Amino acid sequence: MDQVRNCEGCTMCCILLPVLEIHKPPKNISHLVSPAAINKPPNIICDHCNYTSSLETFIGCQIYENRPRVCVDFQCSWILDEEMGEDLKPSNCNVIFEKIRYTEIYLALVHFEQLDAWQEKPTRDYIQLLNDRGFPVIVTSYTRAPKTIFLPKEGWTEDQVKDEVVAAAKRIKNGST
Ligand code: SF4
Ligand code: SF4
Repeated sequence: MDQVRNCEGCTMCCILLPVLEIHKPPKNISHLVSPAAINKPPNIICDHCNYTSSLETFIGCQIYENRPRVCVDFQCSWILDEEMGEDLKPSNCNVIFEKIRYTEIYLALVHFEQLDAWQEKPTRDYIQLLNDRGFPVIVTSYTRAPKTIFLPKEGWTEDQVKDEVVAAAKRIKNGST
């Protein structure tokens, strides 16, 4: 799916997601970028997210062209799906949607300080829409055990969802395309 919009000031994925990749920057910027600095835990702003003091806000990745593979591969639904409105922009709804690679399952990653955000109307309606279209949604955050919402479709069980996610994780780890 092609990107239909840009992040426009949102930096949610650079806060919520762990970036545990050991990244060796290209030689021409190796004096500027520390590989260890990209080893970031979830729920803190990445050191490479650019802070603009005049706006008092983070505005984006300052190593965009050389960002780690995990950042390149991240598929935020909001920038890919033109059906998602401004109210579903992650910085507005406090939830990031992503279709898990190699699966028919969506992840809804909830902000660690807004754990009920997924139950608010625009977000809950979007989860329902995904369910209606046949996609299970796993609602989770990095502070709470994953919670799975099942679509009422014969054949999908909790074990099946888990098995698909585990299989996908293995494929991603093994570098499948
Ligand atoms: S969460 Fe989505 S919209 Fe927000 S910065 Fe990340 S990719 Fe962009
Ligand atoms: S390296 Fe860039 S894209 Fe990746 S988390 Fe940090 S600021 Fe965001």
